[in-house]
Amino acid sequence: MVRLGAITENYKSFQRLAGPAAVAGVVKADAYGMGAEFVGPALAAAGCDTFFVARLEEGLALRRALGAGPRIFVLDGAPSDAVPALIAHQLTPVLNSLAQIAGWSAAAAASHCALDAAIHIDTGMNRLGLPGEELGLLAAESKIRLKALNPVLLMSHLACGDEVDNKMNDMQLSRFRSALAMLPPAPASLAASGGSFLGQPYWFDLVRAGIGLYGGAPQIGGKPLKTVAVLTARVLQLRRIDKGDGVGYAATFRAKEPTMIATVALGYAGGIPRALSNKGSAFAAGKCVNFAGRVSMDMTTVDVSGLELKAGDSVEFLGDRMMLEEAAALADTNAYEILTRLRVPRHYTDAAS
Ligand SMILES: *Cc1c(COP(=O)(O)O)cnc(C)c1O
Repeated sequence: MVRLGAITENYKSFQRLAGPAAVAGVVKADAYGMGAEFVGPALAAAGCDTFFVARLEEGLALRRALGAGPRIFVLDGAPSDAVPALIAHQLTPVLNSLAQIAGWSAAAAASHCALDAAIHIDTGMNRLGLPGEELGLLAAESKIRLKALNPVLLMSHLACGDEVDNKMNDMQLSRFRSALAMLPPAPASLAASGGSFLGQPYWFDLVRAGIGLYGGAPQIGGKPLKTVAVLTARVLQLRRIDKGDGVGYAATFRAKEPTMIATVALGYAGGIPRALSNKGSAFAAGKCVNFAGRVSMDMTTVDVSGLELKAGDSVEFLGDRMMLEEAAALADTNAYEILTRLRVPRHYTDAAS
């Protein structure tokens, strides 16, 4: 179950936090697995008019879902084979190099109109964006190199934005400020969800909220963000096992005493990390229960000793009582990977809780 109402509430929480800066909705990877064709229009209805996707194809699908109007930035930029489609569907590339700036400028010259673009400056993450020497060249020749373009956003991305005390944030902030001072003025953006919590100096004109919209960041202004993804599955069968009996493949769980095992209809093919074998937990009959044995492809076995449970009952793997961050920590990963790996039929509700 995906709570669209929770996504829009979380969006409004970012607006309250970072206003007057605008809040963009990051909906790459199919809106973090929540379904961009539903999430996009829900955010737009809540007042979001700026979106980020990673791939061209995501931008095309989002444009179909949103119609003309909202700004859609494509983080991959403008490789030459993407240029015609970007122009035809009013998608704004985030240009990551001088070569991309030159290519997009050539397309602008050929179409006899200035094309909108964002420019991504690498301030230390070393992943995407203009490295320092390219920034220097761009600044020295900005009149020529940006002549055919309409730079609508200057942006960078924090490597450690989710760590409040990490010195790298200050370093990237000051590099970003220097970069802005070198280039012609344009709206600026540095913070994603994590960076938004670092405070006003990080907000600039636009914050780019991704994981927080989907309930993945722990706190906003002291108030928890709303849970978006609720993942439940039914109990298929219950069995009582004796002391010493094994459970599941390789019998990695051994009962220390008589134990009640519930077999639940969701496994790693549906997005329960196999790494949670013997480590994960879920919520059943009002109690937290532990995984017992290996996670199978379509099933997970849990220890439900002492609980009133029957076949057909629902077990919660993610939701208000099984927090995303907690499940991610147990699986040695992060909320982003848990959400984007879910592969179950999605049902939507407009409710926020
Ligand atoms: C994914 C991404 C975001 C959103 O990050 P969250 O941590 O999910 O809020 C923002 N900006 C860029 C460049 C990204 O790649």
